[in-house]
Amino acid sequence: MTKIVNHWIGGKPVENAAGASGTYGAVTDPATGAVTTRVAFASVDEVDAAVAAAKEAFATWRHSSLAQRTSILFKFRALLDAHRDELAELITAEHGKVHGDALGEVARGLEIVDLACGISVQLKGELSTQVASRVDVSSIRQPLGVVAGITPFNFPAMVPMWMFPLAIACGNTFVLKPSEKDPSASLKLARLLAEAGLPDGVFNVVHGDKVAVDRLLEHPDVKAVSFVGSTPIARYIHTTASANGKRVQALGGAKNHMLVLPDADLDAAADAAVSAAYGSAGERCMAISAVVAVGSVGDELVEKIRERAEKIKIGPGNDPASEMGPLITAAHRDKVASYVTGAAAEGAEVVLDGTGFTVEGHEDGHWIGISLLDRVPTTAKAYRDEIFGPVLCVLRVDTYEEGVDLINASPFGNGTAIFTRDGGAARRFQLEIEAGMVGVNVPIPVPVGYHSFGGWKDSLFGDHHIYGNDGTHFYTRGKVVTTRWPDPSEAPAGVDLGFPRNH
Ligand code: NAD
Repeated sequence: MTKIVNHWIGGKPVENAAGASGTYGAVTDPATGAVTTRVAFASVDEVDAAVAAAKEAFATWRHSSLAQRTSILFKFRALLDAHRDELAELITAEHGKVHGDALGEVARGLEIVDLACGISVQLKGELSTQVASRVDVSSIRQPLGVVAGITPFNFPAMVPMWMFPLAIACGNTFVLKPSEKDPSASLKLARLLAEAGLPDGVFNVVHGDKVAVDRLLEHPDVKAVSFVGSTPIARYIHTTASANGKRVQALGGAKNHMLVLPDADLDAAADAAVSAAYGSAGERCMAISAVVAVGSVGDELVEKIRERAEKIKIGPGNDPASEMGPLITAAHRDKVASYVTGAAAEGAEVVLDGTGFTVEGHEDGHWIGISLLDRVPTTAKAYRDEIFGPVLCVLRVDTYEEGVDLINASPFGNGTAIFTRDGGAARRFQLEIEAGMVGVNVPIPVPVGYHSFGGWKDSLFGDHHIYGNDGTHFYTRGKVVTTRWPDPSEAPAGVDLGFPRNH
């Protein structure tokens, strides 16, 4: 019996959703290859129903007090905390990542709920008194209305939580279109929000594909779109939603480099490279996928990475012994494998070849082993493309400058890291490198909730990074109020056709 996942509109699940759209998608357990769930794909009418529910809820929610919003968010936080394991199990069952990693994703999402619980401080306005005679000026920020979030498969709980806690804390209402590959976590979040007392219609979920996304991009009542996913779709979302007059932040794909200087602690660098390249089977937008070895360190570093990578235990995500799970789909596994198979012909040395790997008893799972490619030329597809799998490329350069030039020539600019003991070099790197997030001896520098997350170049389209202060700014618009309260004892100033001057 396959489970059915439906939309969540107006505070409850939609019954017989696929009766309206007529379409379901199949959700697979990546560890077994078995279809476990059918997810309803929204028709235009269903998306319209979700937006209508959100619009209706906005009329009241926008006027709710900050205390009311934050008390619901505090309750949601407590429920999320209590249901960490259950959420992680849902994630593992549909995404494939190991349970501990899924718990980590929930914890990082919870950070943004923490931030949203303190929204009262962030939404404090500014006031200048007596800017002119008896004139005060205040700046306030107000919600936009109905806002939409479109999210990728690789963090089915965390990435939605990068968006909706702040959006609703700011007084907006939300329509989420999660990945159709692992939709169950989003419904669990919807149920927890309802249990926390969120009014009906403030948070809605529509499942589906391009039909649902395109309707959100064109719907006149959707005021802003937050997107996280691959670069080609991010570019499309940004162009289309902007053309339709919406505010957009569209975070795209990545190729994250780790520059290792000759003075680095090579054991620490190898530990970091292996953890960051192969964690979550490389299906992280902040995964390290290219190590740039400077000067003489290449041979020793590659050997240390190889030794560690060979020991990684691959298996089902719900097996506590597993350190790395399968890939999301068989098609994605085959695509990842093609980069490894083609690497030698493009001039790379294949140190570890993970293609053809399987797990006994789970032969139909979407397995691939660990791959390590050395001396990869910058012209190779394995370097140029975002592979999004457990494949680490090592590139060799002679100098720090050559390494920085190589990284800056990449069209992606999400995260990057430097490994060194030289503080001066690290400082120079942070200033010279063209990426939105930089790690110094930290391989995956995902900012904490109160700093914003976002890349440069083809890794982000739009002006706002996500969460942190940028998140609050994205989900609100500014208004400046200029007020004069004349002293009742004064005579009116009289008519003056000159442009108002402050004196
Ligand atoms: P994706 O771009 O295929 O899908 C993302 C969302 O867009 C999904 O909800 C999907 O249904 C929708 N979508 C897909 N094709 C569409 C189309 N043609 N028109 C309209 N909507 C469409 O991404 P994915 O495979 O789910 O996720 C992996 C990608 O996300 C990787 O490239 C990864 O780097 C990126 N990612 C980036 C960040 C970041 O913060 N920059 C974070 C996580 C993931």
